[in-house]
Amino acid sequence: MHLFPLFADLSGRRIVVIGGGIVAERKVALLLAAQARVVVVAPVLGENLRQWANEGRLAHLAASFDAMQLDEAWLAVAATDAAGVNAAVAAAAAARRIFVNVVDDAALSTFHVPAIVDRAPLTIAISSGGAAPMLARLARERIETLFDHTWGALAALLAKTRSRIRERFARIEERRRFYERVLRGEVASLLRQQRQGEAEAALDRALSSSQGQPASNPGSVILVGAGPGDPGLLTLNALRALNEADVILYDRLVSAEILDLARRDAERVDVGKIVGNHHTPQAAINALLVEHARMGRQVVRIKGGDPFIFGRGGEEIEYLRAHGIEYSIVPGITAAIACAAYAGIPLTHRDHAQSVRFATAHRRRSDSEAGELTAAGETLAIYMGVAEATTLRDSLYADGWSPATPFAIVENGTRPQQRVLVGLLAELVECAHAFEVRAPALLIVGDVAALAAANHWFGAAPVN
Ligand code: SAH
Repeated sequence: MHLFPLFADLSGRRIVVIGGGIVAERKVALLLAAQARVVVVAPVLGENLRQWANEGRLAHLAASFDAMQLDEAWLAVAATDAAGVNAAVAAAAAARRIFVNVVDDAALSTFHVPAIVDRAPLTIAISSGGAAPMLARLARERIETLFDHTWGALAALLAKTRSRIRERFARIEERRRFYERVLRGEVASLLRQQRQGEAEAALDRALSSSQGQPASNPGSVILVGAGPGDPGLLTLNALRALNEADVILYDRLVSAEILDLARRDAERVDVGKIVGNHHTPQAAINALLVEHARMGRQVVRIKGGDPFIFGRGGEEIEYLRAHGIEYSIVPGITAAIACAAYAGIPLTHRDHAQSVRFATAHRRRSDSEAGELTAAGETLAIYMGVAEATTLRDSLYADGWSPATPFAIVENGTRPQQRVLVGLLAELVECAHAFEVRAPALLIVGDVAALAAANHWFGAAPVN
């Protein structure tokens, strides 16, 4: 079936829907959103349809279908569960040259209702020509992830400015170049940061500057949390950032599967390697961020977990701010949250833990006063701790934790090779050595850690 796609203006036009059930209701909701004048033909209406009728949003004809009901209609929709009625609607509509959609019957329909991605005023419609509606729905899901909700605001802003843009750039090629710059640059990124006023000002500036170019169009940096490893734990915003990056600076903790999702022609820089060669690795990374951004590029700085949890994200944005580089931040699922979930350990629990603390074994000396790491009914998640099990255990004891406190070590959390070891603090050192625990691994201390034995669901069962 070769369908011709079209977008119809239904506002104020009479559309007749036959059927009063849930299927009809879904179609009516779409038609009402398009401001159609909807008439529903059905002996009885479902709950929502009845309410809409009472509110005067649609007209209800409490009757069986009759061909005359289609007189004066622009479109008809047959949504009953009686095949005979649906066929009669289709025939009556054809006789009147009215387009008809028979729900779930491609052969009887003369128009189809596409799956849509709604970023009004931008609408993306998808059809499989009736061959495989499921496929259209899947395609829709994919496309949903590519367009964030600020596309609507962008489309509205451009609509508002369209005549000025036409005036400013008479030639179509000029206009096209201008739009491309606006869509990829500052205006779009300000809208994403919910800075509507500044976005409009940037568009104004671009329109009034001599070459129709933003006065300066420097690149910017997006600090992205990649989560703990499982690519499924990326956020949609992280995925979009990877799709739009010109250059990606990544760490050792960012998995290859995640980098595979990035735009193919983006340059990739392994800053883990730089760390190996440099005296002051963070300074080298900071400098690299600024250097790439100043070349006008969209820079993605992606790191494991969340950028603001033991990720030095704070230092990086301070440096960017000091150098006048625009930035935005996409949070990620931090290791403690992810490892706990994938090990079946609730970090808080009504019976066992009222608070949770994220800490690192690499504390600055001034922080390591006694009493730091303890509280009754608390769960402690310790990052970067496995290499120093003995020191760690001793400082936990010094802080007042009992040797009988349960712990869990989650190694390679959320990855196919995840391992979970459980035991009591008294056994921590032996356990970490016996099982040769390697980074990355997270240590969870507190009563909830014992729940891993019963709750586990991912990968191999916990060992002790
Ligand atoms: N910003 C990161 C943490 C970086 S510090 C985040 O929010 O998760 C690095 C430490 O994080 C590792 O030493 C380890 O303790 C922990 N970690 C990161 N990914 C991990 C994973 N997949 N499994 C277990 N621990 C992990």
